[in-house]
Amino acid sequence: MTDIANAPPSPPAAPEECPRCQKPLPLCVCDGLETINNKIELLVLQHPQEQDKALGTARLAVLQLKRAELKVGLSWPSLSKILGRTVDPQHWGILYLGSVEAAAVAPDEDIVVVDSKGQPVDHQAGVLRELEGIVLLDGTWSQAKALWWRNAWMLKCRRIVLGPSAPSRYGKVRREPRADALSTIEAAGMLLARLEKKPAIEKTLGASFERLLAKYHEATQTGEVKVPKVAKRDWRGVKRRRR
Ligand SMILES: [Zn+2]
Repeated sequence: MTDIANAPPSPPAAPEECPRCQKPLPLCVCDGLETINNKIELLVLQHPQEQDKALGTARLAVLQLKRAELKVGLSWPSLSKILGRTVDPQHWGILYLGSVEAAAVAPDEDIVVVDSKGQPVDHQAGVLRELEGIVLLDGTWSQAKALWWRNAWMLKCRRIVLGPSAPSRYGKVRREPRADALSTIEAAGMLLARLEKKPAIEKTLGASFERLLAKYHEATQTGEVKVPKVAKRDWRGVKRRRR
């Protein structure tokens, strides 16, 4: 006969995942997600080792945008191959990972297109107007750098640097420097809203992100979701781009 009272306690089961956003159920904000009819496409390339299930925002952004894709991988032969149709990479922007700060090159702008030397290109407004899509790299700083170096076609895209007026809502929740100081969903919101001149895009995406953060605070306090251990490697000596 098994003595149930003396049996070792079984470890608490990890919370189930939402099949849509792939987050643990206590962190799912899929209910009532508003779909945004964006015109400028979003392509998020995610490093396969990006492990931030709890606080990652790439999938959440893509779920809400009508024209958006998330691809997980390390390298692709071309932008056209990823998208499955022929596109001109000059009409696509990529959020640049270098140490260029928008504030340093164009203090009055929050979106700046720079050349390979980090200098603002001529005819900013015209170049921005011609953009059909945006590429964001999702992962830690070193993961995003790895994606950058393995995908030569990225050099043909327009490099964009951001000078956000507000700091990321992540605040102190995330201790590891990311590819960008903003979360993927915040960067997507800011870029698409500015490029399409529709502030509502940024507000809608930002609201979902805030719901996620609220759920995260609640779930980590009740212990439903564990605070992930953060790898400390890689970040020492890496200069943060902003804030
Ligand atoms: Zn969900």
